[in-house]
Amino acid sequence: MTKNIAVIKGDGIGPEIVTEAIKVLDRIAEKYGHTFYYEQLLMGGCSIDANGVPLTDETIERCKASDAVLMGSIGGNTSTSPWYKLPPQLRPEAGLLALRKALGLFANLRPCVLFPQLSGACPLKEEISAKGFDMLIMRELTGGLYFGERRTEEINGVITAVDTLKYDENEIRRIAVKAFDVAMKRNKKVTSVDKANVLDTSRLWRKVVEEVAKDYPEVKYEHMLVDNCAMQLVKDPAQFDVMVTENMFGDILSDEASMITGSIGMLASASMNESKFGLYEPSGGSAPDIAGQNKANPIATILSAAMMLRYSFDMTAEADAVEAAVNKVLDAGYRTGDIMSEGMRLVSCSEMGDKIVEFI
Ligand code: NAD
Repeated sequence: MTKNIAVIKGDGIGPEIVTEAIKVLDRIAEKYGHTFYYEQLLMGGCSIDANGVPLTDETIERCKASDAVLMGSIGGNTSTSPWYKLPPQLRPEAGLLALRKALGLFANLRPCVLFPQLSGACPLKEEISAKGFDMLIMRELTGGLYFGERRTEEINGVITAVDTLKYDENEIRRIAVKAFDVAMKRNKKVTSVDKANVLDTSRLWRKVVEEVAKDYPEVKYEHMLVDNCAMQLVKDPAQFDVMVTENMFGDILSDEASMITGSIGMLASASMNESKFGLYEPSGGSAPDIAGQNKANPIATILSAAMMLRYSFDMTAEADAVEAAVNKVLDAGYRTGDIMSEGMRLVSCSEMGDKIVEFI
């Protein structure tokens, strides 16, 4: 297969970690007979320096013309970088929000995996972490409370603020379909998280999820209230496969879930639209504290590239091969600084990429 990949290396450690992900993709192309073309684009701080704005129309158009976008991370030190003296709409992060919007990316996919080799970094009790876990949180990204009408006003001398939580059935259906599609490529279980005992939006959410579930008889599904889900995540995270939820619940639960893996440098993520198109990036930021030192952990970006193979290109064997290589490298004891522990072998960002390539 031939695929065109838009590449946004971004700022800070972005160029270092994306370079390693491309090494891995090149090895996959070589092994499985594919051709990947890469087009380098600017977004974030580097685009401000080159173009005066964090995102140009050209970057949007080139991303739209690609089969998928691979991104590093954007932004700088928010206290010292001159980018943060600019008005908010001209700062690096505004570019990312505008790009997600322009590409219609409504579903955020965050796998949270506790690799057994790194279970020591998990803050949960050993009897829980020993089992490991491998879940994917799918968060609705463009609706709900964060996008509803809001205002602050004085009523009878009392300052009052209002935010509106709104979802229509089409917004719920498209993310539910995405969740069941993804579950078909994983362990065929969906947990839909809501607050249906209180909220109308949640009752509609449940109804639509149940309708969608009928089209996926192989997938087991359940509903869970969000407060219970927050507890279950720390009590028994191994019970989850795909979790699907609305924007604000997803925001909070996905941070809770990433915390229990213990390592930001290992967490991949993707944002997708209705088709198979997606933007793939690590969950972490641009880590200005270690940028340019060849110290960053490239695994999150490499696992994001594996998600691109699986979900945008339907290259299941290829994605499995990347994930297996990451496991083998960890088994062999190679560690970047952020996941280093006693008795392991410390490697640089580029050495980690080389080792993963070797194991494919
Ligand atoms: P951060 O994730 O960049 O860094 C937090 C800590 O995690 C730092 O100690 C960093 O060294 C470490 N870290 C992060 N990724 C790592 C990796 N791959 N390997 C090893 N260590 C890693 O968060 P921050 O410091 O709050 O933000 C820095 C900049 O990144 C800010 O400008 C912020 O706005 C931006 N940011 C961008 C994105 C994105 O591009 N999607 C996401 C979050 C933050």
